[in-house]
Amino acid sequence: MTVSLGKTEARSLLDLTKLADELVEPFTKEGVYSTKALLMKALECIEVYKANVDSKDKEKCEESFICYTAASRLVSEIIPHSKDFASLDSNKNLWQFYNDLVDYLVRKRDDYDHIRNYLQSTATGNDSLLSRFRSLKDGASTRNFPDGGLKVASTVESMGVNRSGNSSSNNSNNNSNNNSNNNNDDTSKNASSSSINSSHHSTDQGPFNTLNKKTFITVDELAYALDRYPTKVLVVDFRRKREFDLDHIMSADNLIQLEPVSVRESYTCKDIEDYSMVTNSDEERYLFASRSIFQLVVCLDNSSTQSHVETDLQRLVRTLQMKADGKVLKGHPMILDGGFEEWERLKDGITAPESFRKPVLRDTSIDMISNGRSTYDERKLVRNVSEYFSKPRHRYSSTALSPSPVPNSYSLSPSASPQPLLPRQAFHSTASPSNSIVYANVSSSMQMPSQQSGKRRGMPPSIPNKPSVLPPPVNPQAPVQMPNTLIMTGLVNLRNSCYMNSGLQCLMGTSKLIQFFLTGNYRRHVNVNSRLGSKGILANEFASICMEMYRNTNESHPTYISPLHFRRVLASLKRAFNNCDQQDCAEFVNYVLDSLHEDLNENGNHPKLPELSKEEEIQREALPIRIASTIEWERYLKTNFSIIVDIFQGQMMSQLRCLKCGATSTTYNSFSTLSLPIPKNSKGKSLNLEDCFDEFVRPEILDGDDKWLCPRCKTKQRASKQLCISRLPQILCVHLKRFRMDNYLTKINNYIGYGEQLQLDKYWPQVKSEFEKMELSKLPVRGQLPPFEYKLFGVINHYGNLINGHYTAFVRKGRHGWCLFDDQTVTKHCKTSKVINGDAYILFYERQG
Ligand SMILES: [Zn+2]
Repeated sequence: MTVSLGKTEARSLLDLTKLADELVEPFTKEGVYSTKALLMKALECIEVYKANVDSKDKEKCEESFICYTAASRLVSEIIPHSKDFASLDSNKNLWQFYNDLVDYLVRKRDDYDHIRNYLQSTATGNDSLLSRFRSLKDGASTRNFPDGGLKVASTVESMGVNRSGNSSSNNSNNNSNNNSNNNNDDTSKNASSSSINSSHHSTDQGPFNTLNKKTFITVDELAYALDRYPTKVLVVDFRRKREFDLDHIMSADNLIQLEPVSVRESYTCKDIEDYSMVTNSDEERYLFASRSIFQLVVCLDNSSTQSHVETDLQRLVRTLQMKADGKVLKGHPMILDGGFEEWERLKDGITAPESFRKPVLRDTSIDMISNGRSTYDERKLVRNVSEYFSKPRHRYSSTALSPSPVPNSYSLSPSASPQPLLPRQAFHSTASPSNSIVYANVSSSMQMPSQQSGKRRGMPPSIPNKPSVLPPPVNPQAPVQMPNTLIMTGLVNLRNSCYMNSGLQCLMGTSKLIQFFLTGNYRRHVNVNSRLGSKGILANEFASICMEMYRNTNESHPTYISPLHFRRVLASLKRAFNNCDQQDCAEFVNYVLDSLHEDLNENGNHPKLPELSKEEEIQREALPIRIASTIEWERYLKTNFSIIVDIFQGQMMSQLRCLKCGATSTTYNSFSTLSLPIPKNSKGKSLNLEDCFDEFVRPEILDGDDKWLCPRCKTKQRASKQLCISRLPQILCVHLKRFRMDNYLTKINNYIGYGEQLQLDKYWPQVKSEFEKMELSKLPVRGQLPPFEYKLFGVINHYGNLINGHYTAFVRKGRHGWCLFDDQTVTKHCKTSKVINGDAYILFYERQG
């Protein structure tokens, strides 16, 4: 393989990185190349790297640099997305090969840094990324545009009015612009004085002066501007993500999709930066943060046109203008007249021929911002492939919690060597050490690549230009230490929304979760590529309402807020909640936890794990429960990895056993809330929580029509079915199944006693043999060590029936003791005797120690 370097003069690291990117570009198509083919490609790169690394020749060094960069991109980003990567661990040789490459690159990291520094020191001076970026911010004078920019500057013309006085060649687009500039002369005279930014050469603003006086821009005008001045126009697409994904303005270099439901009426521009753009790519966030450097900002929705009623889009435009938070735009933000529908309708008529396409501004700062952003596929690529090292969410804690490579095959012996134990890094900045559970890490050679943290594993940054150009999306000061996360704000009842209010109050009482949202840390975990979930919308909304309740907390005189926006978003996400009916609070809590999990699921886009083969299943059935359930949990983590898993999720086992031959079939499922049955035939009896746990684990005999088709007997047999809680979470959310479907929905009103303390050791399958103990020591513990002692911190009560009922919540609030949240009313210092009550429906327990 040869790497063509073209010119021979010294290059910047950026150029070299671009070349490396070009080198691997053909392989970035997800799921096209086999893992093996890509591994061979990476090996090839490494060979070239090795051959040149010790050379004194600068060009050879450059080649080495490129090949190392390319190889690490292949190994860290591209191969994990290859089509058969998921099954790689079943092929020992390939898996070993892959790990060898990873290890090699890690070991050679120092050499790579050495070359990098050497190349950096010898690069020609004027293209330090940072300085160019600064000069861009200082003002886009023509000297910053070495080639393309000059071209732009020399052909500056206003749309329809030639400001410099030289007659520029009219093109076919000109007449369309004349139409729109009704008061042409007046506005162009006043333009420079009315323009907020006066530091610019007037020639630079020429075409934009007249436009910036108006509120609406026509499709023609926008098309022309994008064609002529692609780097100076920022387009804000204010439509739902799914609409945007279907189609959008392809010719816009600088394009942001802004989710309409994530922008609140009260938001300022800073709020939009901080709260509304969590799900956006780093580039989009950066573009939005840089909005004031653009000559023209155009916003669009589906079909906005002149209207007397204020639309969401008009509100956004007003926010951009009036609540600019210091970033004053160069002119009026504009609305695309007729919206995207009008663009679609007209675009074929106005798309310039290929030869007329915008000049590619190579090597200018703006070009770096918009690099490769012209088609959707490329955008998708940016969102997927490059995230590994360039997005900060991989920079921190996930390593410690990362799924370990549990082999698909259930032979225990060779694969699992003793694991080094590393202290667990907390998800949140303020985790108290007392809560930290020792999480076992996995041996380095077997670690899943996508969980490797660049820093800790010493892997090279694959795209060095990105982190150095783009500011980190999250302000380093942002994760503020929050000594006190007490939230004591009531929630207005929006017609039967007490199920939501009570559920939210208990979640607000879960300090580990709330810290994660209040500190803003959640933003770094949002995974918009997660297959399920709301693409971050719910996570963002949950953060907003946390923040609003936190800000409004007045401990001495509790106040309340209206959760209207949260409810609106909830309704938009799930149809069942899109009405004013009373709903099941347990369903709500489950829905919120599951959606947050999917939004924050770092492995939500990983390929599904292959099903176990018959043979593997037989092997698994023979294993003790603790071992089998641990292996299943590690497998589960490969596609499910979020703070919700860490805090709320446990695992239950369901086992069928043939009563004739003893054959078993076992399944393992995760849960976020544990639903406990209330013992039958206990009408009116006083029960306690233990009775419900006993009922949960009581074997059930399947007989008659329910007989089980035994896989060994091959006939229907009497069988027993048994559940057990195979993993216990940090926060245990217990749902008492008070609603039962007989002929109609009935409520079971038994008094069920429960204590503030809960001991669950006896419901957790114990380790029975030395063999089991020894094998378990090779697998991650992840908190599964007795004792399992819990303390109550939240109770949701339900009064009445499901149609005509009411929910309230008791939540423990530090020095205020138990507080009752009855919609907007907050009552402090409630007696424990009130908290332990016969209407309890959902209980929140936190593990101690
Ligand atoms: Zn059988």
